[in-house]
Amino acid sequence: MSANPLDTALYSLRQAAELAGLDPKVIELLSVPKRTMEFTFPMRMDNGEVRIFTAYRVHWCDALGNFKDGTRFTGNLTLDELKALALWMTIKHGVGGIPAGGGKGGVVVNPGELSQWELERLSRNFMRHLPMKGAWVDVPGADIGTSEQTQAWMLDEYESIVGYHSPAAVNDKPSAVSGTVGSAEATGQGVYYVFEQVVEDFGFAKDCSVAVQGFGKVGSVLAGLLTEGGYKVLAVSDIYGGIYSQGGIDCTLLKEYVRKTGSVVDFPNTKPVSNEELLELEVDILVPAAVQSVIDKENAPKIKAKMIIEAANGPVTPDAEEYLREKDIPVIPDVLANVGGATVCHFERIQGLTDEYWDIERVNRQLKDWILKAYQQMILTAKEKGTSYRMATWINALLKIEASVKKRGWV
Ligand code: NAD
Repeated sequence: MSANPLDTALYSLRQAAELAGLDPKVIELLSVPKRTMEFTFPMRMDNGEVRIFTAYRVHWCDALGNFKDGTRFTGNLTLDELKALALWMTIKHGVGGIPAGGGKGGVVVNPGELSQWELERLSRNFMRHLPMKGAWVDVPGADIGTSEQTQAWMLDEYESIVGYHSPAAVNDKPSAVSGTVGSAEATGQGVYYVFEQVVEDFGFAKDCSVAVQGFGKVGSVLAGLLTEGGYKVLAVSDIYGGIYSQGGIDCTLLKEYVRKTGSVVDFPNTKPVSNEELLELEVDILVPAAVQSVIDKENAPKIKAKMIIEAANGPVTPDAEEYLREKDIPVIPDVLANVGGATVCHFERIQGLTDEYWDIERVNRQLKDWILKAYQQMILTAKEKGTSYRMATWINALLKIEASVKKRGWV
């Protein structure tokens, strides 16, 4: 298969659609975006020069609700990458029971080259020139290169355009600007709820061993919760390398250490381990939480974990997954395990629409309910259809989308 992410996403779509017995017309409809927008805007830089920026927004399918999801500011952004991500978000919303369609967009820019003022003007310009927007139309959230701050500027710009407050029009805002509490931790928190349920359902011990690759926004939150929950985190890593301790790493202390040093490397009382070695450790559960395609057909035969939970997007390649399935090493897929972020974005929108803001207990209680409901549906479908957990999640999402498409009379 080609490395084009859109080909990969369409391949999964067709595979799952066939297993789900989807109407061919629905498959045809879901194989193309509803619309793609490419637009440009001029912006004056701090040095007085004017630069023309290219921006995109892709709307894949809105059968389940209005478009929603991330905005990337990256130098190598492509339309095919955004189309693949918009399709994935359509599926992820279906998996999570979130009433939203899949959208994704961004600006071709390396934010590291911009000053703070330029970043603010870029965020405001993106929102000003975005052709379709609003709480019931398309709600952009953060992604690579964007942050709580860019989202706060985008909301402020939107509200100044329409002339009234509309907190539900932008996601991933800080709680000081009508965002939600728990948004920064939501993905890691959701992975943790899935992890706990997996331990119970698959008969692991309450202090089973874990390795976590990646110690960023997702991995560090998850690892901290694993330590607090009494699990034995034998190894963690980041881009600079990994650490190992036979007795388990205190990830609450590690978070403090990383805040000071910028890396997990050389954390006291641990031995160094490479990222490659970490993946091949003898642990009960392996959680890749860094980047895509780290478990491929080359290293799949060396995996000794009994179970893999995908916190990152796409860490296990399709051929590696086939091998792991034969070896009876189940993979809990990304679209389910990391749907916590998208779920809490939906809660953020509900709070913005009602102007009633929740406390962290309510956010986490509802997140747990929603993600475990999606998890139970995945387990049931995998059993009924005899498929992998990944295919089961896709089938569940596709059947929900198909039901809406048909009742709407689209095909
Ligand atoms: P992040 O940038 O905050 O952290 C990434 C971590 O992985 C860092 O510790 C980094 O050092 C490490 N890393 C980077 N490249 C690596 C490599 N080649 N080998 C080993 N470690 C490496 O990112 P994040 O937000 O924590 O996202 C992690 C993964 O989860 C990504 O796949 C992302 O798409 C996915 N994800 C994130 C969210 C979210 O809410 N942040 C939601 C859904 C999915």
